[in-house]
Amino acid sequence: MINCTDFMVEIGNYLDGDVAAEVRAQIESHLAHCQTCQVVYDSARKTVKVLTDCGSFDLPDAIAKPIAEKVMAKIRSAT
Ligand SMILES: [Zn+2]
Repeated sequence: MINCTDFMVEIGNYLDGDVAAEVRAQIESHLAHCQTCQVVYDSARKTVKVLTDCGSFDLPDAIAKPIAEKVMAKIRSAT
C-alpha cells in the first residue's frame, strides 16, 4: 500500500501515464479512499490539461481570427 507521500512523489508520472501497472493500481486504490489526494490529483490534472490545451493551439486569436474570417468570406462568396 502506498501513502500520501508516495502518491505525491508519483503523481507527475501518473499524470504522464508513465508508471508501471502495479504502481498505477496502488495509486488508484489510494485515490479511491483518500480525499486529500483526490483534491490534489484533481487540481494537478486540470493544470496539466490547461497547459496541454495551450500547447496544442499554436495560433494566437489575433492571427487565427482574420484567417478564419477570410476563409468564411470566401466560402460565403462561393455559394
Ligand atoms: Zn493520500
